[in-house]
Amino acid sequence: MSDPASPELKTLVEHMLVAIGEDPQRDGLLRTPERVAKSLEYLVSGHQQQIDEIVNGALFKEDCDEMVLVRDIEFYSLCEHHMLPFYGKVHVAYIPDGKVIGLSKLPRIVDVFARRLQVQERMTVEIARAVQEALGAKGVAVVSEASHLCMMMRGVAKQASSTTTSCMLGSFRSDPRTRAEFMSLISRN
Ligand code: ZN
Repeated sequence: MSDPASPELKTLVEHMLVAIGEDPQRDGLLRTPERVAKSLEYLVSGHQQQIDEIVNGALFKEDCDEMVLVRDIEFYSLCEHHMLPFYGKVHVAYIPDGKVIGLSKLPRIVDVFARRLQVQERMTVEIARAVQEALGAKGVAVVSEASHLCMMMRGVAKQASSTTTSCMLGSFRSDPRTRAEFMSLISRN
């Protein structure tokens, strides 16, 4: 974040301001290209992050084979169709196979895939696969619930709608009881 914004991106934002009929030289907008460029770079910084580096050292041998669930992980992403935010929460569960992961790592894995241009369906699958790969778990389940500003602010303006996507791997896919337990745990208040 402390690096200066890409000059190319700054220039593009300046052009964009002109294209929408603004004057980039007016007071309030003088530093806007710099701010927008930096904020955009941050919002898509997940592309540069490696899951191995995040997981590194946070896998622990454990005999437990009961479901581990982290609920309500907040996320903010950008829809790749409009470059507008979509945001909400993600629930991540897995059934360990001899290894558990430090719980704070799951939200960080979510951020890696949220901080890029995304579609919600793909983000959900990518999180599930990354957790599965890192842990070699018996099963992984990810459900995401999101509000999309591209729907809320424009066009249809469906402000109360939310979108849910899910990805079930391993025993969550093959065993309806495991899946049902997960679904009941995440729907509990
Ligand atoms: Zn969109």
